[in-house]
Amino acid sequence: MTALADMDLGAARVFAVNLDGKAMAALLRAEVKQQIGRLAVGGATPGLAVALVGDDPASQVYVKGKVKACEEVGIASTLRKLPDTTTQDELLGLVDAWNADPAVDGILVQLPLPKGIDQRAVIDRIAPTKDVDGFHPHNLGLLASGRPGLVACTPAGVMRMLSVYGKAYGWTPAGKRAVVIGRSITVGRPMSLLLTNADATVTVCHSRTPDLAGRIGEADLVVAAAGVPQLVKGAWIKVGAVVIDVGIHRMADGGLCGDVEFDAARLRAAAISPVPGGVGPMTIAQLMRNCALAASARRGIAID
Ligand code: NAD
Repeated sequence: MTALADMDLGAARVFAVNLDGKAMAALLRAEVKQQIGRLAVGGATPGLAVALVGDDPASQVYVKGKVKACEEVGIASTLRKLPDTTTQDELLGLVDAWNADPAVDGILVQLPLPKGIDQRAVIDRIAPTKDVDGFHPHNLGLLASGRPGLVACTPAGVMRMLSVYGKAYGWTPAGKRAVVIGRSITVGRPMSLLLTNADATVTVCHSRTPDLAGRIGEADLVVAAAGVPQLVKGAWIKVGAVVIDVGIHRMADGGLCGDVEFDAARLRAAAISPVPGGVGPMTIAQLMRNCALAASARRGIAID
């Protein structure tokens, strides 16, 4: 870690604004709860079907959080736990059944899937109208063409976070230089498309990018989704930048950290999301919103 005394803080602020994802997610869930109330009045309580294959401990925690959030906002969730011996055909059969079930508005197959199951084949089988994770090529294609439908929850949650911050502090991604670290289908790639659609000038960095520090030093907005603990050093952050940390890692002492060296970065950033309590809660709240959007579109009931 960079010693704080060694850092050139220049005109840095004392501390960045804390982008409190827990509080923002509570507001988003309250909004979604009202939308679901409108759907329920129309006789269309949204249904989310979740498949959890195998016994990955992190996946079990994530799925538990999603099911709990469904209860809170009024979504009817169905959880199907399957052994890690499940075959690809069995899983595709379950997806087919949910695709055909009128009570199911959203389908979520928790990733990663056990070895032997082709993740892409499973994602591609989900009906795009029920693809509440937003990973289907149809939905990614819509996003790439600037007509977003169902958008991946983590990047959509980040955009909501930026919008809340922007309204409070008069900030916008438009015209800003944004650096997204990571190009996965689930986070980095849709994130870069959302920011492009929001008129930022976007640089996508990845494991083959030379001089990551240089790229980050130019950025007014950094979204870190590399999955490498504290990869982004505080000293790299441009003074006054907005920093969003998507990474989440368990440390040797049992605590959690992100992809950004938080303590040092918050001395230079204008705003920064913490880990935990930043992007994580926004992701789950956005999943609830996607379920409401999917139900609204499929059943023809307006919610906004
Ligand atoms: P991934 O492994 O699929 O992708 C990581 C990306 O980062 C790749 O594109 C890779 O090229 C890039 N990368 C890896 N090392 C790099 C380096 N040294 N320099 C620059 N780029 C590098 O991971 P993912 O699924 O996109 O997730 C990324 C992180 O976000 C993980 O820590 C994951 O746990 C976390 N995550 C959090 C949430 C949440 O809700 N908070 C949701 C999804 C993912």
